[in-house]
Amino acid sequence: MTSKAFPPHNIEGAIVNVLITEYLRINLTTEKWECRACSHEIGSARENYKHGLLVHNRDPREVHKPLLDPSKYERTFSPNPDWCRILEFYCPSCGTLVEAEYLPPGHPPTHDIELDIDALKEQWKDREEVKEPPVGAEPVRRVHHHHHDHDHGHHH
Ligand SMILES: [Zn+2]
Repeated sequence: MTSKAFPPHNIEGAIVNVLITEYLRINLTTEKWECRACSHEIGSARENYKHGLLVHNRDPREVHKPLLDPSKYERTFSPNPDWCRILEFYCPSCGTLVEAEYLPPGHPPTHDIELDIDALKEQWKDREEVKEPPVGAEPVRRVHHHHHDHDHGHHH
């Protein structure tokens, strides 16, 4: 996956973008949430990112198809829409499904990621930017030609 042309560092050489989830990052210069797929500015990083996303309130039966015929069986293996809804949050610019959460009907979206932006800036000012999140496939590592570093470099 190639990222869009966002300069990884500002003119002072400080980190600009911090990855938060698979689809979200924070631009520490503008203090905005950004969609990683299209670089769309979602909203203030000091606010709930969900405010800047499109919400789709899904009947869980549409997402998890019942394994049994609901007309024949009272209990199917699909979530009951009376006590569970699935809120899906989409980037308004590119339509990427950024987040999904299971909530009781009528429950407002949770504020699940609340970050101390000032602490984050302090934490990241001396680090190299991470291009890919540290989950899933291993990111391509920069090869050092001068020496062979066999530990994986995660010193904190
Ligand atoms: Zn997007």
